[in-house]
Amino acid sequence: MNEGVFRNMNEHLKALADEFDLSREPLLLVCECGHSDCDKRLGVPPAEYERIRSDPTLFAVVPGHQLAGVERVVERGEGYVVVEKLAGTPAEVAHATDPRDR
Ligand SMILES: [Zn+2]
Repeated sequence: MNEGVFRNMNEHLKALADEFDLSREPLLLVCECGHSDCDKRLGVPPAEYERIRSDPTLFAVVPGHQLAGVERVVERGEGYVVVEKLAGTPAEVAHATDPRDR
């Protein structure tokens, strides 16, 4: 009886720990640069990625993959940079192609 209670409690604690760890693990993302043959990966903290995605003009790319004249680096993270599409056509395209932008 008691064993069952403790086991259930441990399962519950482990589930909580897993959830906690997962939320702290960086997301392994594919580089969002404009190069179609780019398959670089970058690790971005989930909260950071959610913040980037909330702005349709922001993208996470591998440092150096930003396209001059189309976007500019607005933030630098560990192994990635956040770029903002410049106003005008690049930003309009970013809005038009964003699945979250209605
Ligand atoms: Zn890239």
